[in-house]
Amino acid sequence: MSRLLIEGCEVVVTMDDAGTELAGGSILIEDGVVSWVGQGQLPETADAGRIDGAGTVAVPGLVNTHHHLYQTLTRARAQDQGLFGWLRELYPVWADVDAEWERAAARVSLAELALSGCTTTTDHHYLFPPDRAGILEAEIEAARELGIRFHPCRGSMDLGQSRGGLPPDSVVEDTDDALAATEEAITRHHDPGPGSMLRIAVAPCSPFSVTERLMRDSADLARRLGVRMHTHIAETLDEETFCIETFDRRPLELLDDWGWLGHDVWLAHCVHLDDKDVRRVAETETGVAWCPTSNLRLGSGIAPAVALLRERARVGLGVDGSASNDAGNLLAEARQALLVSRARGAPGGLSAREVLRVATRGGAACLGRDDVGSLEPGKRADVALFSVHDLSHAGAEVDPVAAVVLCGPARPRHLLVEGRPVVRDGRLAAADEEDIAAEGHRAARRIAAGAAR
Ligand SMILES: [Zn+2]
Repeated sequence: MSRLLIEGCEVVVTMDDAGTELAGGSILIEDGVVSWVGQGQLPETADAGRIDGAGTVAVPGLVNTHHHLYQTLTRARAQDQGLFGWLRELYPVWADVDAEWERAAARVSLAELALSGCTTTTDHHYLFPPDRAGILEAEIEAARELGIRFHPCRGSMDLGQSRGGLPPDSVVEDTDDALAATEEAITRHHDPGPGSMLRIAVAPCSPFSVTERLMRDSADLARRLGVRMHTHIAETLDEETFCIETFDRRPLELLDDWGWLGHDVWLAHCVHLDDKDVRRVAETETGVAWCPTSNLRLGSGIAPAVALLRERARVGLGVDGSASNDAGNLLAEARQALLVSRARGAPGGLSAREVLRVATRGGAACLGRDDVGSLEPGKRADVALFSVHDLSHAGAEVDPVAAVVLCGPARPRHLLVEGRPVVRDGRLAAADEEDIAAEGHRAARRIAAGAAR
C-alpha cells in the first residue's frame, strides 16, 4: 500500500456537509484515497511519504464544469463582439481543427487549469470535421500525460446555415454520424467505476446549432448508456429570440420539452432565466456550469447564480473558452464569481467560502461525482495546497481560507490527483511548462497563417 501524509497545514478545508475547517490539520492518503483527516495526534505513519503543509491552506481540488480546450489557441480574437458575432468570426478559423491542434491546445489549457488548483475538468468539444481523426483521443492523451481527472464531452452540431442554424455547413455533422461517433466514444473510453479518471458525456452544442432530433436522440443515447448530458442554454438574448421565433418557446422551456432537464444533466451558462426557470432547474436537480468571466467578456449578462443557490440548485464553476475568457484560471474564476455575485448590489452576494464550495462540491455534483469535491475519509485524494505565506497573501492572516479566494489568485504549491503529484513546488510534475507553451505558440501561429490564406 502507498501512504502519503500531508502534515501540518495552516488550515485544512474539508468541505464536508458541516463546513469543517481544521487549523493545523493533516491528511493521510492511502492508495489514492483519503483515509484520515484531523488535528493533533497523527495516526501511525512511519512508512508514509510526507508533504510539508506548513504555510498552506489545503482545499479539495477545484472542479471545472465547462470548457472548450481547442479555443485556447484562438484567444484575443473578436474582441468586441457578442456571442453570435464572435461565433460567426471564429467558426471559419475553428473549421481547421485537427488532432495536432487539439493536442497543443489541450496541453496548454489543462496545464493552466492544474496551475490554478483544478484537479477535475470537463471539455465540451463539438467540432468534428469529417476527415480529421483522433481529436478526442488527443485531448484524452494530454489529460493522461498531466495527470488531471477528465470528463470530455462528445459534442455535436448538425444544423448548418443552409437549414437555419448559425454555424457554416462546413463545420456541422450528419445527425446519424454524430450519434454513432458519440456512442463509439462512450464504448471506447467511458469508465463508470469509482475513482474514474475518464468519463464521457453526451453534449449537442446549442439550440441554434443542433436539430431537435439530435437533442432528443442524444438524450435517449445518454440515458441508455448511463452517461451524463451537457449543453449550452440561455446564454444570450439573441439565443432567446432565436428560440421564441423558431420554436415559440423560451430556451429552458425548450429543453424541458426535449427531456433535457434532470439530475443527469448539467447546463452551461443559464444567464437568462426567469424566477420560474430558476425553480424548475432546482426542482429537477439539473446542474448549472456558471461561467461569469465568459459571460462578461461577451456581454451576455450575469447569471442568477445566487438565486439558484438559494433554491439549492447544483451550481459549479466553468472557465469556458478560452476564446471567450482568454484565461483558463479556475481560482481566478472563483474570485470573479464572488465579485459578480455582488455586482447586482450587496447584501446578498456570495461569501468566499460559498464560492469555494461552488468551485469544489458544486462542480463535483454537476459531474455526478460523489467521490471528489471534499476531503473526507473514503474520498479520492484530490488536494490543492495554496501557500498563504507568500507576497500576495501578506496581511491576510486573520482569515487565510477566505484569502485563497480574495487575494491572488496564486498557483498551488502542490496539487494531487489520486494522491499523485500533478503540481510540485508550483511547477507541473509530469511535463515541462515552457515546452507546452512553445508548442501552443507554434500551433497558434500555424492556425493564424491558415486563417489568413
Ligand atoms: Zn461554451
